[in-house]
Amino acid sequence: MSPAPAHEQGSLTPAGGRARSTPLMGRAPEPSLFELSVKGRRSASFRTSGLPDWTLEELVPEAYRAPEPVELPEVSERDLVAHFTRLTHRQYSVDLGAYPLGSCTMKYNPKSCDLAASLAGFADVHPASPPSCTQGWLELLVELEQSLCVITGMAAATLQPPAGAAGELTGLLLMRAYHSANDGGSPARRRVIIPDSAHGTNPASVTLSGFEVTTVGTNARGGVDIDGLRRVLDTDVAGMMLTNPNTLGLFEEEIAEITRLVHDVGGLMYYDGANLNAILGVVRPGDMGFDIVHLNLHKTFATPHGGGGPGAGPVAVSERLVDFLPGPRPVRRPDGSFGWHKPEHSIGRIHSWHGNALVLLRAWTYVRLNGSDGLRRVAETAVLNANFVKERLRGTYELPYDRPVMHECVVSARSIAKETGVRALDVAKRLLELGFHSPTVYFPHIVDEALMIEPTETESPQTVAALADALVQIAEEARAEDGTGAAAAQGAPATTPVGRVDETRAARHLIATIDQRPPSGG
Ligand SMILES: *Cc1c(COP(=O)(O)O)cnc(C)c1O
Repeated sequence: MSPAPAHEQGSLTPAGGRARSTPLMGRAPEPSLFELSVKGRRSASFRTSGLPDWTLEELVPEAYRAPEPVELPEVSERDLVAHFTRLTHRQYSVDLGAYPLGSCTMKYNPKSCDLAASLAGFADVHPASPPSCTQGWLELLVELEQSLCVITGMAAATLQPPAGAAGELTGLLLMRAYHSANDGGSPARRRVIIPDSAHGTNPASVTLSGFEVTTVGTNARGGVDIDGLRRVLDTDVAGMMLTNPNTLGLFEEEIAEITRLVHDVGGLMYYDGANLNAILGVVRPGDMGFDIVHLNLHKTFATPHGGGGPGAGPVAVSERLVDFLPGPRPVRRPDGSFGWHKPEHSIGRIHSWHGNALVLLRAWTYVRLNGSDGLRRVAETAVLNANFVKERLRGTYELPYDRPVMHECVVSARSIAKETGVRALDVAKRLLELGFHSPTVYFPHIVDEALMIEPTETESPQTVAALADALVQIAEEARAEDGTGAAAAQGAPATTPVGRVDETRAARHLIATIDQRPPSGG
């Protein structure tokens, strides 16, 4: 089969008149493939010369044919490719520019890691292949586990969980299994403590795993309120989940004291290490006394985050939890070969097969390419860039917890909103017109008019400065006497394919069919 020649495909461009005159821009909704469809048009035509003289019945017996033609869009290959290419050009991506979406680590990922993940020797292996045929894959998984243990200071890790939140659930199930084994199955430990500055998935995971959330507050320096923690600690506490750096971008200053207090009542300490690029190669959760750590390989270790693609949220644990890990686990056997092993008290499977293996392969490649010095540089640069942005915004935005930040900074547009009516949301929307993706807004909840900015380590000093300058420009324009700047921000974005959408309505009244699509592109 080959692409049909242009005259047979009846390409829509340029004579068809239905193709868009300007391929990239504009607010008009992109026609769907069904709208581009022309009856009888095909993306491929079969050669007819020099072939055996088969009848349709010989090629596809009637019993295998659909009674009615399936309703599919009928488009040429050329128009099909143009359609999807136009859609990609309407999109903003990590490969296009800075994406300072706080807590999400939307950084550029090296293409060499994608190259490794596309090697046929890895990519084309069926997950059910026996260990005798997949020694290389198993060795790689064992090596990655060891690297992650060295990086986190833990004893062993499971690579199965397919996301950060799945890692949290795994960690909490490990907590439950550990306590049942040690307290003789007593249900007494039912509470898990979470600071109010934690990532939103933490309380959700606690509830999902059948524990109850106990919240502790934040002190004036943006850390855990230690006296508050003391008040809620008791022997019914299963453990504490700590997001570090917390969602204010701050390193928990009293971390050693916190782990000591929780261990004293028999609880376990969980480190939410989704944003490990803040501490990579500098400090290790294991050395701080943590029992469980999850990592987001799709944030820190070379798989793009977001877009609904596969991820990996490995969970590393201290010695006392190794026997409870999900299984079977890839292991090195005493004779040096590789195989599978199910830990004695395993909580069972968290994911089919090996987890999201190609994400794991990208992470293995990233660790090898960087080495320990390179990984440390990742953290140092991520932290430097975030502090640069914070200092550049000083005096323009409020800095609610004003101390050196880690990989991200949280600033407030509260005074700008009070003076000019321009809110954090307007700043974020106006930033799109200046060529940057918006930061996270209105999170963490403990900061009014929050803008949570994570410049990441992969952006150049020039790009990071331009991002900060754009944020300053928006605030200065908003404060202009004649009010034009404020109005511009409140009406932004005017230059993007989609304008301001009603995000609440979009979430509550999802319209997923073309027929009900509103007439404008908004
Ligand atoms: C992203 C993130 C998570 C959740 O990870 P997912 O892969 O999106 O489930 C958890 N904690 C923190 C701190 C995060 O930044």
